Amino acid sequence: MTKRVSPWPGRRQGAVSLTFDDGAASQLELAVPMLNELALRGTFYLNPKEGFEGKLAPWKDVAAAGHELGNHTVSHPCAANNVAAAAGHARRGRGENRRRTLEEMTLDEMEADIVEASRRIRALVPEQGAISFAYPCYQSFVGRGVSRQSYVPLVARHCIAGRGVGEKPVANDPVYCDLAYVWGWRCERMRGAELVGLAESAVADGRWAVLVFHGIHEGHLPIGERDLAELCSYLARQRERVWTAPVARVAEQLLAWRE
Ligand SMILES: [Zn+2]
Repeated sequence: MTKRVSPWPGRRQGAVSLTFDDGAASQLELAVPMLNELALRGTFYLNPKEGFEGKLAPWKDVAAAGHELGNHTVSHPCAANNVAAAAGHARRGRGENRRRTLEEMTLDEMEADIVEASRRIRALVPEQGAISFAYPCYQSFVGRGVSRQSYVPLVARHCIAGRGVGEKPVANDPVYCDLAYVWGWRCERMRGAELVGLAESAVADGRWAVLVFHGIHEGHLPIGERDLAELCSYLARQRERVWTAPVARVAEQLLAWRE
């Protein structure tokens, strides 16, 4: 049954979540001040590894400003193909420091990692409410071949929502989308006008766009600072029509609306 009442607060037309992965320094330097200036709130997916209390301390202010600090696992496990590509052929499959791969992991190990990452984020920012999850490398399985299994049910059990990857321009339908595997759009190297067009297409359909960023003007899967600024100023100008909110807040809204 399709609901007639808009799922979005204040009768807005659609929703947008700005998400940033891996705790890149450029996010603290550029993205957070940009969002704060325009009173927009995003989700920052972190890996609280050993020593996280010190290393992630700057993120406490980000949470205090109303942004979500999300769960991206402690160990950021990815498929063997990704890990081999990152390590280079010379070190592939060798050495004590070799990163574990999803093919080697069990569901119990994955569950322990997800639970521990949420525990650490809560230790860092106890005042934060529900936490959403982002699948490292957008992958949602453990094992290989006939023993391969989805770990989406673990995310459904332990987090309010999980952000995976979906095809552009199909945004999340408020009625039908699976909150445990919300579709995110990879936005690296996109131009500002393209980002605005994507967000606008989702909003025009009454849907929820989840945009994924990594480094801002640097490093890994970058987005240009001016391009991100163009998107953010559009979202700020359109705030009466477009609800820009962290993933966990949108998930809470949809859960309440779907009841
Ligand atoms: Zn990541």
